[in-house]
Amino acid sequence: MAHVVVLGAGLGGVIMAYEMKDQLGRDDRLTVISQGSTYSFVPSNPWVAVGWRDRDEVEVDLTEVMGRRGIALLTQGAARVHPAENRVELTDGDSLGYDYLVIATGPELAFDEIPGLGPAGHTESVCQIDHALKARQAVEALVAKPGPVVIGAVQGASCFGPAYEFLFILEKALRKAKVRDRVPMTFVTAEPYIGHLGLDGVGDTKGLLEGQMRAHHIKWITNARVASVDAGMMHVEELDEDAALRRRHELPFAFSMMLPAFRGVAAVRGIEGLCNPRGFILVDRFQRNPTFRNVFAVGVGAAIPPLGPTPVPVGVPKTGFMIESMVTATAMNIASLLRGEEPAEVGTWNAFCLADFGDGGVAFIAQPQIPPRNVNWSSQGRWVHYAKIGFEKYFLRKIRIGKSEPFYERLALRSLGIDKLKSTHHETG
Ligand code: FAD
Repeated sequence: MAHVVVLGAGLGGVIMAYEMKDQLGRDDRLTVISQGSTYSFVPSNPWVAVGWRDRDEVEVDLTEVMGRRGIALLTQGAARVHPAENRVELTDGDSLGYDYLVIATGPELAFDEIPGLGPAGHTESVCQIDHALKARQAVEALVAKPGPVVIGAVQGASCFGPAYEFLFILEKALRKAKVRDRVPMTFVTAEPYIGHLGLDGVGDTKGLLEGQMRAHHIKWITNARVASVDAGMMHVEELDEDAALRRRHELPFAFSMMLPAFRGVAAVRGIEGLCNPRGFILVDRFQRNPTFRNVFAVGVGAAIPPLGPTPVPVGVPKTGFMIESMVTATAMNIASLLRGEEPAEVGTWNAFCLADFGDGGVAFIAQPQIPPRNVNWSSQGRWVHYAKIGFEKYFLRKIRIGKSEPFYERLALRSLGIDKLKSTHHETG
């Protein structure tokens, strides 16, 4: 009889629990440790920020569904993981022991690395629903009193898709409100070029996104390092290809939303052998920590090596399908260990992403994530907007019914030639 604990109930943690449950025997125990009982669908936050979604449309209470699936839910959150003692210390002082631990705690948002950045400072965020709801008030104030807008992603950021999404969604919302003509817009990014996305581009994302910016009268600054933010003013250093200072920009704004850099959460950060210096959990290709062999990690909290040097540092994004591939591999690998076998499943980590622009969008598939690739495809069109809505409805349904991957989803993705796993069972050499 084994006890598996999943830490974190976000996009990775919830489906991790569902897939793990399918793999466990009758006598095995499964516990999820979360912060509160609510699941929040992060990819909808850019819509929340412009008033196209409300909180109740993108959140699910997990109490009933976890109970129905026989999964214990502890909602007080973890204070610290003690991997050498196989236990998680909870915020109320209790401790929970485990045989296997899956860490799915997502990112901590490193706003504090830049003076004045973030919702406690002078810029908005869409990383959490509370931030998005606060940003909505700022958008309403912008519509009432139009002025310049600065959107983007700072040095060390890895999540660029949502910055582009929010840029174009806000642009569309401003057009709809008939104030776009009074709102100069600038995109400020650590990426070396527009459409790099932390992936050195996918297909022609450079051309597609630059074209969209030109078509929507949006200026941009790449290789940008945000030095600090004051009320209504962003101080930006633009670097050249050799990372030397090329130009300083003083950017006045009436509204700004900047994606921060991510780091691992406090409950795991600084644990020798478990994390890299930024607090991301070190994993091998089986999602397993090399030091603490009964600890696995999935999602944004898992460490992924960067792509290569860029003048301003950028990270590699971890997107939904890639996270699902980590989850499936982890569930199967823990099941193997419980049967006394060695882990053999490797997540494909393919990047498959839909970036909605409000009435159109850009989609891409990078397979594998790091170039050169077997599939390096991007496209744009109105269909992306509807596909993103479909993704939202479908994912939330999955969370509500408590099943990770119904048959038709598997079928649809396989028919596109996109697999979540590359098994090593048949590897030779
Ligand atoms: P999260 O979903 O953030 O979940 C982590 C969970 O861990 C949270 O619920 C948190 O409360 C919990 N936690 C943290 N610390 C503790 C603790 N000490 N104890 C207990 N629980 C804890 N990807 C896509 O594929 N498509 C998209 O359209 C897309 N849009 C995005 C939009 C935005 C604004 C952002 C920020 C990301 C987007 N992503 C998208 C990327 C990625 O899919 C999401 O960030 C996703 O939510 C990451 O899943 P996760 O499980 O790693 O982290």
